[in-house]
Amino acid sequence: MKNYDVVVIGGGPIGSSVAERIASNGASVLVIERKDAVGYPNHCSGMVSKEFTNLVAVPNELILNHIKGAEVFSAHGNSFSFKRDMDFAIVIDRVKYDKYLYELAIARGTNYMFKTQLKGYQRCIDRIELLLDSDNIPSISTKIVVVAAGATSSAKRMFGFVDEGRDIQTIQLESTFTSYDPDIVYVYMDNSISNNWFSWVIPIGRNRARIGFGTDKPGNLPVLFEELTSKWKILKGKELKKENPVVWHIPTGLVRESVKDNVMLVGDSVRQVKPFSGGGLYTGILSSYFAADAAVEALKLNNYSKEQLMRYEYSWRRTVGKEIKREFLIRDVYKTLTDEDKDNIIKKLNGSHIKEIINTQGFIDEPWRAGLRIITSAGIPLLYLKRKLFMRK
Ligand SMILES: Cc1cc2nc3c(=O)[nH]c(=O)nc-3n(C[C@H](O)[C@H](O)[C@H](O)COP(=O)(O)OP(=O)(O)OC[C@H]3O[C@@H](n4cnc5c(N)ncnc54)[C@H](O)[C@@H]3O)c2cc1C
Repeated sequence: MKNYDVVVIGGGPIGSSVAERIASNGASVLVIERKDAVGYPNHCSGMVSKEFTNLVAVPNELILNHIKGAEVFSAHGNSFSFKRDMDFAIVIDRVKYDKYLYELAIARGTNYMFKTQLKGYQRCIDRIELLLDSDNIPSISTKIVVVAAGATSSAKRMFGFVDEGRDIQTIQLESTFTSYDPDIVYVYMDNSISNNWFSWVIPIGRNRARIGFGTDKPGNLPVLFEELTSKWKILKGKELKKENPVVWHIPTGLVRESVKDNVMLVGDSVRQVKPFSGGGLYTGILSSYFAADAAVEALKLNNYSKEQLMRYEYSWRRTVGKEIKREFLIRDVYKTLTDEDKDNIIKKLNGSHIKEIINTQGFIDEPWRAGLRIITSAGIPLLYLKRKLFMRK
């Protein structure tokens, strides 16, 4: 039997981040990863705010592009755009970024076990014995399990967590993409393709982009993708290379529980994702710090009870959870809009002072600020929004 202080299930960015922080405090940490390497397949657009780099350093060689603005299209072909003098976001190479976080964790003494999954577990006094899916692997015993196994994993259900919330289905691929401004991202809002969500083109250099969409309606995503390329004018008639296509989930929803005795959930596993933009890196990494700090404290006190680990849950709900609630408000309103409404808003925005607001408040870590101003400027009463926010508490 091999003993560890902490076992992390999932070697994605959030799993490696939590492992690195716990290991740097001297604890013994093992990460169990079901694939044979970290980073693949890349299901992410990799766009993060400049503020993200204050939370965690991103080496220059991992930055594929600097983003200064956006152009948002309605299904009717009208658009609204803005471009700042300075970058407001960067696009990172997610495969290399995951590897970078993995190497940081290794440098702090974290152990990784690849091609391994959890088959079951049993509780032994105040420890957990993990049963892994290979006979060649010795049994593992740990004081704390951190589940960071992403949106699609069943590991959290194994520990008795109920999976609440709703997933956005997404498809994304990479292609050559030229003759548009590579400094801005492009967004398309068409309910027939991306119901209650949006489509995107995120340039990852002068002549290459990540192109995709999300929807909350079941459908054939590759077929809808073809429809997108024939409807959205910036894709129409372009020969797309369609490399690295990935169908994936964006988990949205505020879960009721992220902690049990000896166990914490973090990242996409517990839907720490912004429900309007789909960004999960900032929220997940920030939450991973809270989880790591709670684990370190629990190890110091030799107390792995739910009550002790709840410190993690209080911290993420006060910060990340609050932001998720606010974004739900914006998304709730967005979901009520028809293609006509969105077209009208875009037309209104073009003749208004909103460009200025977006230039100063359109931070992608807190898009609710700009979103709220845009919605109210478009004539949706603030009282209605307040009532909805109150009902969400
Ligand atoms: C199309 C799309 C675009 C996105 N774009 C952005 C963006 O631009 N910016 C942003 O901030 N966020 C974006 N996100 C969200 C972001 O990708 C996620 O929030 C982030 O990857 C979450 O990291 P994670 O470590 O929690 O999960 P993951 O990245 O999914 O990693 C989980 C890891 O756990 C492993 N695993 C799963 N089950 C098991 C198991 N049972 N045992 C062992 N290992 C297991 C997996 O193999 C994987 O390596 C996007 C998501 C999608 C789908």
